[in-house]
Formats: sequence, structure tokens, C-alpha cells
Amino acid sequence: MDNPPASRSVTSQENFASSNLERLAWIESHPEVSVLIIGGGINGAGLLRELALQGVDALLVEKSDFCSGASAAGSRLIHGGLRYLENREFRLVREALRERNLLLSNAPHYVRPLPVVMPLFDRFSGLWSAAASFVGFAAAQPSQRGTFVVKTGLMLYDWLAGRSSPLPRRRFLSRRQALATYPHLNPCVRATARFYDAQVSHPERLCLELLLDAESLSPKVRAFNYTRVEGLADGCVLLRDELSGRRLAVRPRLVVNAAGPWIDQVNARLNRPTRLIGGTKGSHLVLANPELAAATRGEMFFFTNRDGRICLFYSLDGKVLLGTTDIPVEEPEAECTPEEVVYLLDAVRVVFPSISVSASEIVFRFCGVRPLPFTEGLAPGRISRDHRLPFISPSQTSPFPIFSMVGGKWTTFRAFAEQTATRILTELGRPCRHNSRGLAIGGGKQYPATPMEQKAWLAALSERTGVARDRLSELFERYGTRAAEAANYIAGGVDRPLDSSPRYSLREIEFLCLAEKVQTLEDLILRRTLLGLHGEASLTVISEVAAIAGRVLGWPAGRIEDEITRTAGRLRALHGCAV
Ligand SMILES: Cc1cc2nc3c(=O)[nH]c(=O)nc-3n(C[C@H](O)[C@H](O)[C@H](O)COP(=O)(O)OP(=O)(O)OC[C@H]3O[C@@H](n4cnc5c(N)ncnc54)[C@H](O)[C@@H]3O)c2cc1C
Repeated sequence: MDNPPASRSVTSQENFASSNLERLAWIESHPEVSVLIIGGGINGAGLLRELALQGVDALLVEKSDFCSGASAAGSRLIHGGLRYLENREFRLVREALRERNLLLSNAPHYVRPLPVVMPLFDRFSGLWSAAASFVGFAAAQPSQRGTFVVKTGLMLYDWLAGRSSPLPRRRFLSRRQALATYPHLNPCVRATARFYDAQVSHPERLCLELLLDAESLSPKVRAFNYTRVEGLADGCVLLRDELSGRRLAVRPRLVVNAAGPWIDQVNARLNRPTRLIGGTKGSHLVLANPELAAATRGEMFFFTNRDGRICLFYSLDGKVLLGTTDIPVEEPEAECTPEEVVYLLDAVRVVFPSISVSASEIVFRFCGVRPLPFTEGLAPGRISRDHRLPFISPSQTSPFPIFSMVGGKWTTFRAFAEQTATRILTELGRPCRHNSRGLAIGGGKQYPATPMEQKAWLAALSERTGVARDRLSELFERYGTRAAEAANYIAGGVDRPLDSSPRYSLREIEFLCLAEKVQTLEDLILRRTLLGLHGEASLTVISEVAAIAGRVLGWPAGRIEDEITRTAGRLRALHGCAV
């Protein structure tokens, strides 16, 4: 295999502000495309980068913002999936562990090791349930996992991770050691198991970086948000620009349906009805509870709740992320209900009964639908988390084949995209020229790994741009080596911290608007920054950010107010924010 082609600089003008007019003009001037990818979640984004790498011309369209569906609703774990061993998903676990390790080195700015603690309350419980599931008894309900089951599972997990895994191996603490280490831990505990997985601190940004990388790798690929696939006409796929309402058509040789929970809806629009998805919804809460955050000691607690479901919580910049539920749903979109809030808060008490948690501490909540393969008669926890790629042959009305990217984990997006690209290349009769295994993503490129290297990198950047080192450290933490692009932009004008949220600055927000395909205020609040997730999106904050975005993106009169009203409404309704 050749080395991958060198990327063009992401600061170059063509990646700046993909305005409405520009994207409509691009689609109009490219009415035919080899591959049309529908959906800009992690699977679509991963595939666009693979196709760019192989020199295939491709267009990705996303009806909302990139990474706003299932890919934004996860527990933010980059993990092998210890639990899937019970379901005998060895292939998936081995692949996920390999991809976890690749992401630790290809995206070190966002993917970091996460110590995981499992409190164990019994010696042999879960044995029957795990064994029943292991031998293929599909209806077996998950239950508490005791020391024996967890020890066996972790042994297998470490073995599947291989000797070259960069993360430390499992360790067990006795009851006495565990209670000394975690004083708030439930005194009924018998032992704790500790192992390592990884966490992605900002999945929305990592997904966007894949798209920016794809566009800078090849001029033959483009990704447009707020562009919905509506249907078919004369063998063309009809697109609707959601911001202007304009309609366009493209004629693809091949379509990849990467619409996650919406896959069946999209296939129906393409006149090829399917029943591929059987989604389950999962909710998460972000709590402002300093006592709970401190009690986690920077580790993730991963435990069996009273009903046998796995729950988890870990600290997130001083707050606590708590999840998750697993409830079958018919629709591709779902909301976190009051019952789920009660269920999740109650779960904390299984681990730390002496720490009080309450709904008043919730600063943000989110919910999404897992695009799992349709199955009948399985408990949600037993449905396969592996990916598959069903193929639909061309027909008279839809004269192109359709691949549907069903399921998969965030963790395994690269492997899934690589496998899909290989099938596409075969279909198009093209050779496979490059491989993305060692390809760093976005701000993970040329990443200075050690503290010494980081210090030198920041010093050189400070000298070049005149931006203070403390400020650069903040940008580096947020954007990895893309901090250099941000700093170059910031240095080009008068900057100041935002009045309402001084951790961000005026020119930083401008940079995000111009360089990162921002179309709406919500894109900035929920996905380009962590203002929403951290519960910092007050009315004052979103108003100040809206004013900057409106000026930079040239929003017409009245649009700023509309954006504020819409974003505030959605923050209240979908995320439980007190805006
Ligand atoms: C609660 C929960 C917890 C999870 N936790 C983890 C975890 O910790 N670790 C992990 O590895 N995985 C996790 N996952 C799984 C993982 O997040 C998903 O499997 C993955 O994100 C699916 O990505 P996708 O790109 O297929 O779907 P999506 O991200 O949903 O992307 C599909 C996109 O298609 C777009 N679309 C739909 N219809 C159209 C149309 N007509 N035209 C254009 N675009 C359209 C949608 O707007 C959407 O953005 C979790 C998932 C959930 C829901």
C-alpha cells in the first residue's frame, strides 16, 4: 500500500464557511457522483474519509448538523464492550479493542484512557444468566454479575486486547482495600475489579474533524449539513436544503444509507422499504454534584443496577455523566422521560448510598436511539451491537445499489467504514490504495505526546503568533494541534474573553463559525463547544454567541433573535436546561 496522500491545510480558504449559496452551487455543478452517503453521523463521516483516501468522488448529506443523531447520544466510551462477551460477540470485542487502541494513538487530543471500577456484591451471581446467554439462550435476562463472572470476563477481555495493548491490565481490590480507597462505597461490596478502557471527551468535534480531513484529503469529496434526502425522481435522489428550502437532484452510481436509526425511513424514501432497525433508546444525565464527582476519583463506575442492566457514571470536568437506559422504541428520535430520570438517579445509590443525588442537580440531559439490528424476542441487552452491511440491488425506479450501514459502535467506526469502502471499491471496480489504520485525525496530527514536547510546541506557537501561553494551553486542550489554526486566526485581530463565558473568546467563536461548517446557533452551543453539555448555556451565553455568529455568518435581520428563541426552546425541552 502507498502512503496516504498529504492533506491540504485546513486553514485554506476553501474550508472556510460553506455558505448556503456555495453548497447549493457545488451540488448543482456536480449532478453526478459515484457515491452518495446519506447521514453525517460517525458512520457516514468515517466512510467519507475512507473514500477520500481512495480517491473516490463522494457527496455526504446530513439533514441536521453533523453528529447530531445517535452519535451525539452515547456514553462517550471508546471501549471493547466487556458486556458483549456474555453474548459471545468475540469478533466485535476483538475489533473494538483494536480500534480503541488505534484511536488512543490517532486521536490523542480527544480519546484518553479511562480507569473503570466494577463494584462486586456477590461471588457467584450472574453465573446462570451469563452462562445461559453464552450458550445462546436468547431470552436470558441480564442479572447482577458476581466476582466469578467478572473475573472470567476480564481475563478474556485482557486476552482479546492482546499483549500490545497500551493500557494497564485488570486488578482486583478486596472489600477492605476497596472501602479504604472509596470511602463512600456501598458497605455491602465484596470486592472491586479495575480495568482500563477509554473515553472520547468530544465526539461531536472528532466526527466533524473526520469530515474536514476528508475534504482536505481530496477535492472530490464534500459534506453538507442541513441537506435532507427527500425522495426519488427520474432515477435521481432529491435533496432539500433545509435552510433555504431549495430542492436539488443528484444522480449517484451507488448510495450508502448511513442514517442510523432513520435507515428504514430513508430506504422507504428511496422506494426500497426495509425493516433493518429495531432501536432502543438510551438517556444520560449530567449532574452538578461535587461530592459525587470527587467520590469517583476520576474513574468510571460501571455496575449492574437492580434490574440487571449495566449503568455507569464518571466525572466530566467537575460534573458527573450518568447513564443509561435501554428501552425498545419504534421512532428514530426519543426524549428522556421523568421515569428514566428517577431510574438513573436511583442507580447511583447502588454504588454510593450515602451520597445524596437529586433531580435539581441535573444541568443537562440527552437521549438517543441506538440503531440496533431488528430482532424479535430478545431482551434489549442481548441484541447484537455488531455492525452489518445489507445490500439492495438496483431496481427500475431506483437505478443504483444501496448499502445500509446498520448498527456498530462509535468505537468501531473506522473498521466499519473500511469494510464498507472495500465493498464499494469492488462494486465500482477500483483498487484499494490506502489504509487508514495509522491515520491521525484532526488535532491529533503531529500531536506532541509528552509534557516536554507539549511545552516546546506551545512555546514555539506562542512565539509565532504572540498569543499568551496560558491561552494556548487552553486551546490545545480543546483542539489538540488544531490550536495552531485557532491561534493564527485569533492573532489576526483584537480578541477578548466572552463576557458571559470567559473560558471562550470572541475570535475563537468566530474561528469556529468560519472553519467548522457552522450553520445554526445550536451547532455552536451543542456540538462545536461543550457549553451545552456542561450546563453553561444560559440565555446570556447563547445571546452573546448568537450575536458573534450572526455578524460573522451574515445572518439577515431577525435571524439572530430566531436562533436564540429556537436554541433556548430546544435546550429547555430536550435537554432540561434552565434557560
Ligand atoms: C444511548 C447510547 C449510548 C451509546 N454509547 C456508546 C458508547 O459509549 N460507545 C460506543 O462506541 N458507542 C455507543 N453508542 C453507539 C453509537 O453511538 C452508535 O451506534 C453510532 O453513533 C451510530 O452512528 P450512525 O452514524 O450510524 O448514526 P447517527 O449518528 O444517528 O447518524 C445518522 C444521521 O443520518 C441523518 N439522517 C437521517 N435521515 C436523513 C435524511 N433523510 N437525509 C439526510 N440525513 C439523514 C441523521 O440526522 C443522523 O445525523 C451508543 C448509542 C446510544 C444511542
